[in-house]
Amino acid sequence: MPTEELREDADRYLMHTYTRQPISIVRGRGTRVYDLEGREYLDFVAGVAVNVLGHGHPDLIAAIQKQSQHLLHASNLYYTEPQVKLAEALVEHSFAKKVFFCNSGAEANEAAIKLARRYAHGKYGTARFEIITMLQSFHGRTMATLTATGQEKVQKGFEPLLPGFTYVPFNDLNAVEQAITPATAAIMLELVQGEGGVQVADQAYIKSLRGLCRDRDILLILDEVQTGMGRTGTLFAYEHYGIQPDIMTLAKGLGGGLPIGACLATEEVAAALTPGTHASTFGGNPLACSAALAVMRVLLEGRVLTQSRAVGQYMAKSLLDLKDRLPNVKDARGLGLLQGLELTVDGQPVVTDCLNRGLLINCTMDRVLRFVPPLIITQREIDRLINVLADVLGKRV
Ligand SMILES: *Cc1c(COP(=O)(O)O)cnc(C)c1O
Repeated sequence: MPTEELREDADRYLMHTYTRQPISIVRGRGTRVYDLEGREYLDFVAGVAVNVLGHGHPDLIAAIQKQSQHLLHASNLYYTEPQVKLAEALVEHSFAKKVFFCNSGAEANEAAIKLARRYAHGKYGTARFEIITMLQSFHGRTMATLTATGQEKVQKGFEPLLPGFTYVPFNDLNAVEQAITPATAAIMLELVQGEGGVQVADQAYIKSLRGLCRDRDILLILDEVQTGMGRTGTLFAYEHYGIQPDIMTLAKGLGGGLPIGACLATEEVAAALTPGTHASTFGGNPLACSAALAVMRVLLEGRVLTQSRAVGQYMAKSLLDLKDRLPNVKDARGLGLLQGLELTVDGQPVVTDCLNRGLLINCTMDRVLRFVPPLIITQREIDRLINVLADVLGKRV
């Protein structure tokens, strides 16, 4: 269907929840995607940090093809091997001892919130239910997770919000200390606020938060929906901080493009969920789990992660150079292959200019260009990103 016709039909039949770029993407290979007219784009969006292995990775395709021939779905009334194998792989390579599978980031965070409340209620009674989250955070669009999200624009129009959430500024230890009360059950945050403008948590802050939580038996929940699965150069971002959470959520990159989410926890915390207390029909679906297992195997093999770490450092340095050269760039920051460029001007026109130059990027918080390429991105492709940005931003000075 011609792109213009597709846009008209989308307008006619889809709820208007998204602002879309005017292209129709029909296929992808590696770090590139192609639109209906055959134009090639270098992909620094990767389905919003989803396609960690790029497009069309042979191992991922093989896993999906093979599993689809055996079984697509069976429900959690029965055992299926891909789900158990994936849980085993996640447990063996993280702090966690138990996994609950679901289908998205929001759903993973819902599980984390329910788990935290149940743990606190079981141990301390129902007066302990509050969760402290960060301003500018993003945890999803369901009622509980949009309440957890510390951004008014996400909450506006959906009141009343869920009771039991308080918000503090990010990277401010004092503010967290002040906010803790006997009702505090958990503190929930991202180590890099992705949707919130690529804000990186300080080392000392996270270490202190960990101590604070341990001392008072408050659960530390890390939302690694965006930062997990190699995005920051390690399998999980908490590895950079030398700490371990009590609960961690994953989604985006986990299935390499198939929808899957997960909530991971320590043995003691996970025990709070007993049969009948939580469930998801599609959760741990054999097709999605087979895909995620293929992603895990590629990442654990090591080469992609090692390479992505080096390229991430190169990208961070290149973006800092760009900042020094251009007056309309205010800041460059990030971790691994989750990088941002804060502008002094609106980012959306820059996104459009880049699109017209065959480069997909996106923009958060109005002025922060965000780059989350597949982990297989090369140094030469970073050079191309920088050249296009220099050109596009240079013209807008
Ligand atoms: C994208 C994102 C979510 C929401 O994930 P969905 O799959 O869209 O529900 C939650 N938390 C973080 C940190 C995210 O980046």
